[in-house]
Amino acid sequence: MASNTTCNTCSDPTCSAKTRQHDESVEDFARRQRLQGNLCRIKHKFFVLSGKGGVGKSTVAANLALTLGMNGFRAGLLDIDLHGPSVPTLLGLTRAQARTTREGLIQPVALTSQVSVMSIAFLLQGEDEAVIWRGPMKAGVIEQLLADVDWGPLDALIVDCPPGTGDEPLSIVQKVGDADGAVIVTTPQQVATADVRRSISFCHKLDLPVLGVIENMAGFVCPHCQKTTDIFRTGGGEAMAADMGVPYLGRIPIDPELVNAGDQGVPYVQKFAERPAAKAFVHAVEPLIGMLERDRVPAAGPASGTVQE
Ligand code: ADP
Repeated sequence: MASNTTCNTCSDPTCSAKTRQHDESVEDFARRQRLQGNLCRIKHKFFVLSGKGGVGKSTVAANLALTLGMNGFRAGLLDIDLHGPSVPTLLGLTRAQARTTREGLIQPVALTSQVSVMSIAFLLQGEDEAVIWRGPMKAGVIEQLLADVDWGPLDALIVDCPPGTGDEPLSIVQKVGDADGAVIVTTPQQVATADVRRSISFCHKLDLPVLGVIENMAGFVCPHCQKTTDIFRTGGGEAMAADMGVPYLGRIPIDPELVNAGDQGVPYVQKFAERPAAKAFVHAVEPLIGMLERDRVPAAGPASGTVQE
């Protein structure tokens, strides 16, 4: 039986959160409506995925959110990497705790005036807690992070997913539903492996557009002579992306300053904008910025204020 309950958040008459599905219990419908109601206020949703951990997925997610902020967009960064939430470390937020409002909503942590962050780590008592969670508990936490974080209106939400193509990324992608797409992060050593291809097939199976592949830690730019040394094999990322029919966004070199920035919680693209890796990063995410630019609403009418004679 379908009932026409109004989604409080959006004015889209086709929003699926307005209608209860035939096989849906009242409780499930209420939960789904709460989740979709929260996500409806966000214009664009991007996932950052990787086949394996340690390839720089969280680094890309964090710097993407910062780059959007630097371009004048309001961005939210949601770290649901249950196995190793590293966003708080990368951004110097290891002591941050999530606050809950009287209405039961979770307040994200403001990183800058444009960027807010919510991490699974902000809800944990200790760093090892997530390790002992069983499946249903993980599913509950994932749902809570998507449904109950009060982002306010956002231009974009960047979701840092757990690595791989298992139950957790699957559940996150399915719960979010109408995302713009995913950025897949890999390294030159990983490029040829089955993991990256699996990540791409994962997106295809879920009808999630692949916005592109970023090859991270590709080459080392000498800080003295600026010459690039390809420490690992390189160039495979572009060929693999072409072979799989997905866009190649580019390569980001290894930068020791990026490791230091990550260890010290310094926002890398913002503080080290002139370094080759920061420039390469900004160049790689240009197509995503372009998607938001096309959507930027020009202010209606003339600016307010009196013209002085
Ligand atoms: P993942 O999310 O895939 O597990 P992280 O983003 O946490 O990986 O990165 C793992 C480590 O590698 C971090 O210490 C990070 O600072 C470092 N790192 C990521 N990308 C680069 C790079 N291009 N150059 C140098 N260090 C990097």
